[in-house]
Amino acid sequence: MAKNIVIIGGVALGSKAACRFKRLEPEANVILVDQDEIISYGGCGIPFYVSGDVSDISELRTTSFHMVRDEKFFRDVKGFEVRTATRAVKVDREKKTVLVEYKDGTTEELPYDKLVFGTGSRPRNLGIKGQELGNIHAVANLHDAEKIKSLIVKGEVENAVIVGAGFIGLEMAEALTDMWGIETKVVEFCDQIMPGFVSKGLAEMATHHMTGQGVEFFLSESVQEFTGEDGVVKEVRTDKRTLEADLVIMAVGIQPRSELAKDAGLEVGPMGGIVVNERMETSDPDIYAGGDCAEVLHLITGKTAFFPLGSLANREGRVIGTNMAGGNATLEGAVGSFVVRLFESSLAGGGLTLERARKEGYDAVSVQMCQLDRAHFYPEKDLMFLELVVEQGTRRVLGIQGFGSSGDAMVGRINSVAGMLKFKPTVDDISNLELAYSPPFASAMDVVNALGNVADNFLNQLFEGIDAEKFQEYWKDKANEGLFFLDCRALPDAKPFMEKYPEHWHSIPQDELKRRIDEVPRDKKIVLICNTGVRSFEAQLNLRELGIGDNVSVQGGMALVKKWGMDI
Ligand SMILES: Cc1cc2nc3c(=O)[nH]c(=O)nc-3n(C[C@H](O)[C@H](O)[C@H](O)COP(=O)(O)OP(=O)(O)OC[C@H]3O[C@@H](n4cnc5c(N)ncnc54)[C@H](O)[C@@H]3O)c2cc1C
Repeated sequence: MAKNIVIIGGVALGSKAACRFKRLEPEANVILVDQDEIISYGGCGIPFYVSGDVSDISELRTTSFHMVRDEKFFRDVKGFEVRTATRAVKVDREKKTVLVEYKDGTTEELPYDKLVFGTGSRPRNLGIKGQELGNIHAVANLHDAEKIKSLIVKGEVENAVIVGAGFIGLEMAEALTDMWGIETKVVEFCDQIMPGFVSKGLAEMATHHMTGQGVEFFLSESVQEFTGEDGVVKEVRTDKRTLEADLVIMAVGIQPRSELAKDAGLEVGPMGGIVVNERMETSDPDIYAGGDCAEVLHLITGKTAFFPLGSLANREGRVIGTNMAGGNATLEGAVGSFVVRLFESSLAGGGLTLERARKEGYDAVSVQMCQLDRAHFYPEKDLMFLELVVEQGTRRVLGIQGFGSSGDAMVGRINSVAGMLKFKPTVDDISNLELAYSPPFASAMDVVNALGNVADNFLNQLFEGIDAEKFQEYWKDKANEGLFFLDCRALPDAKPFMEKYPEHWHSIPQDELKRRIDEVPRDKKIVLICNTGVRSFEAQLNLRELGIGDNVSVQGGMALVKKWGMDI
C-alpha cells in the first residue's frame, strides 16, 4: 500500500523533503500543510528585494525556469498536494495523525506513516515597551518584506533604525542605505557587529567599511523603549540616546518553532530545537525534523547547535526525503559556514571564532593575515583579510573567518577550509591544501596556504604577531619610552608618518635593517610594521638573529590599520 506522508511547513525544508521523496516514491501520498498562503520562497533574497536588486517579489518564489512554486506547481509538476492557510495544531503519535485547522476554522485529522516537521523559526520577542507600534517589523517572511518595501516606495521612510547587527540586520542596513538613501542606524547590544560569527578585529573592519557607506552604528547599547504618534513609531530610546525613526527593523535573532513537536512528546534540545540524529529522525523514528526548527550536531564542539541557515535546511530536506523512501542518507552535523555581503565587501566564516573556541575549553590562538587575492602582477586584485583559529598542541584548525572586497574570491577561500573542518584538519593540511591557480584567480602560493604557513610560523614561535587592537593600544601609549615603532617599508611609504610623528615613528627599510642595526635600541620593545605584515615578519627574524628579541610584528600591517579606520 502507498505510504502516507504529512509534512508541516513548506518553505525550505518541507518542500525539499517532499520533492526528493516524490522522486523516489512517485506512488506515495504526500500532503504538505503550511499556515501561510505563500510557500517555498527564498527568504534569503528578502534584503535584495527590499534593496531593489530583485525587482519583483514573485522572483523569490519562482523556479529557475520561471514557474511560481505554488499549490498548482507542486501538484502538476511535483505530484503532491499542498494545503496552504492550513495550520497543524496537534500531533497524535499513537494514532499517527496530525490535526489540521483550515482557514474557515474547520479541522481534519490527517493520517501519516511518516511525518516531517519543517516548522522553521520565529523572531525572538524581546518584549520591549512600545514594540506593538506601527512600522516596527521583523524580517521573517515575504509579508514583512512587502510591508517594508511598500513603506519605502511610498517615500514614508527617512530614518530607519535596525535593532541587531547580525547578518540579517546588516543586509537590511545595506538595502536601506545603498538603494534608497535612508538614514540608517544600527543599534547592537554587544560591543561588535556579527557577535559570535567573527572576531572583534574583523568586525571592526566591516563596521568601518559600512560607516563609510553611511550606516551609523551604536554598539554596546540596548533598546529600552519605542515611542510613537498615532500608533506609528517615531523614536527609539536606547540606554544612551534617543533616535528618530519612521521604520524599525527588529533583527534580534530567531528561535526554533518547536512547540508542536514538544507537545507531541518529541525531544527538544537546550536551544529549543527538535533533537534529531544523523538521519534527521527525531526521538520518534517515524517523525523527521530539519531546518530552523531542529538542532544539529556541531561538528567541532560535538555539542548540539542551532544553525538557522537556508543552505543547511535544503541539504537536510534531501536527507529526509531519501530516508522516508527507505534510503540511508546522513548529515553528520554542521560547522555553520556563512557569508554576508556588506556593500562592496563581505564577511564570511566557518567553525569557531577564537572567543568561542576558548569558551569551549580549547587552548586556542588565532593568526591574522592579509594578502592579495590574485597574483600581485595581475591588474585586478584586492587585499583579503583572513583569520585562522587553531588549537595549540594538536595544531588542529577550529575555524576560519575573513573580510574582503572580492566576495566570490573570499567565499571560495572560506569554503575550502570550512568544508574540511569536519575532517579535523591541522595547520599543515591548510599549508598544503591543493588549490587551483592562475593569475586572474589566485597567487601561486594561495592566500589560504599562506594563512596556514603563518599559523605554522606562529605555533613554531618564529614570530610574535599583534593584531590591530593591540597596535592601537601600543600607539595610544606612544609616549611610553619603552616602545619603539619601526616602519620597515621603503622610505617613501614611511616618510609621511615620520613627518607627522617625528618623535615616535622610525624608519628602517627591512632590506637595510641588518646594516643599520645600531639604530635599533636594545632596551625597548620594537613594534614592527609594514604594508601587510610580510616585511615586518622578515624584520622580526633579522632582529632575532641579531639578538634583539623583544619585538612584535603587526599582522596585516598598515592595510589592517587602515581598514580598522584607526586615526593615525
Ligand atoms: C531575511 C533573511 C535572510 C536570510 N539569508 C540567509 C542567507 O543568506 N543564507 C542562509 O543560509 N540562510 C539565510 N536565511 C535563513 C533561511 O531563510 C532559513 O534558514 C530557512 O528559511 C529555513 O527554512 P525552514 O523551512 O526550516 O523554515 P521557515 O523558512 O521558517 O519555514 C517554516 C514554515 O513552516 C510554517 N509553519 C510553522 N508552524 C506551522 C504549523 N503549526 N502549521 C503549518 N505551518 C507551520 C511557517 O508558516 C513557515 O511557512 C535568511 C533568513 C531571512 C529571514
